[in-house]
Amino acid sequence: MQGYIFYFMISLYYDNSILSKRGEIVLLEIKQKLIPRSLTGTRPGLYLNPSYITVHETDNTEKGADARAHANLQALGNSRKASWHYTVDEVEIWQSIPDNEVSWACGDGRNGTGNRKSISVEICVNSDGDFEKAKHNAAKLISFLMKKHGISISNVVQHHHWSGKNCPRNIRKSGWQAFLNLVISCSDSSGIPIANTVNKRTVKLTKPYMHGNDIKVIQKVVGAEVDGIFGPKTMNLVTKLQKAHGLSTDGIVGEKTWKVILKRRTLKLTNPPMTGEDVKEVQKKVHAPIDGIYDAKTMNLVTKFQKSYGLSTDGIVGEKTWEAILLG
Ligand SMILES: [Zn+2]
Repeated sequence: MQGYIFYFMISLYYDNSILSKRGEIVLLEIKQKLIPRSLTGTRPGLYLNPSYITVHETDNTEKGADARAHANLQALGNSRKASWHYTVDEVEIWQSIPDNEVSWACGDGRNGTGNRKSISVEICVNSDGDFEKAKHNAAKLISFLMKKHGISISNVVQHHHWSGKNCPRNIRKSGWQAFLNLVISCSDSSGIPIANTVNKRTVKLTKPYMHGNDIKVIQKVVGAEVDGIFGPKTMNLVTKLQKAHGLSTDGIVGEKTWKVILKRRTLKLTNPPMTGEDVKEVQKKVHAPIDGIYDAKTMNLVTKFQKSYGLSTDGIVGEKTWEAILLG
């Protein structure tokens, strides 16, 4: 059964747009394919205020059993009564359950501290993957989640900690402390993760409405009231924008519509300097004086910002840097 599902999944398209030449994730992007709310067996909808990050391995060495395949497996309804928040492989991170909802991953029961207080991260061990890189990407993700939720390294634990299961199997064998050191190495001395993440969700009309900073970005561009809530009015304006750009008018902000929304001119140091409102947008994000002039000081701060997102530090605000500035 599982073999069949994975065979199907590997035929899906493979996005390598975030890969550097060496095959590492440059921009740590979290992709989402959430378990439908109707699947209450694996997405119970219980509130989670996370104070632990629990680390797992998928234990599935089949070819193609990568992060995307696991996200799809969870979204289709995993036959096992098990679920988890994130799956990581050597190129991608997929999220299946929001950070503020409980998953069933820790094997310590419905009211166990592991299940009720953890964000669970699964690392892929598929034989056609690169486990060392997957581990590194998981460390980056964990570092980011620690910062996001104020979780200390002492609360980054193994699945084994909760239930005694030999999980994460390979990491337990090669040394847990080495993995924790890898997580620590993903933060600078002030605890700021080296790789910040960009969370580019597919935004659409749902009940309850989706909300967040990414929706504010959409609303500014389509001319909606900027309240960060994706309701029918915002959706209608998105449809108009799509029509104007020859896109299918489904009101869903997916990859193509995001491209239109995030489109900005490329900013760089020139003589005389570039000026404008878009420069102010950048300056606000990189904590430069907001005078609308793309000067050397702004460029230096852009370079620092790029470094924190694992982008190439050229001081030029192109497509990827704009994405990080607007959605990071
Ligand atoms: Zn586990």
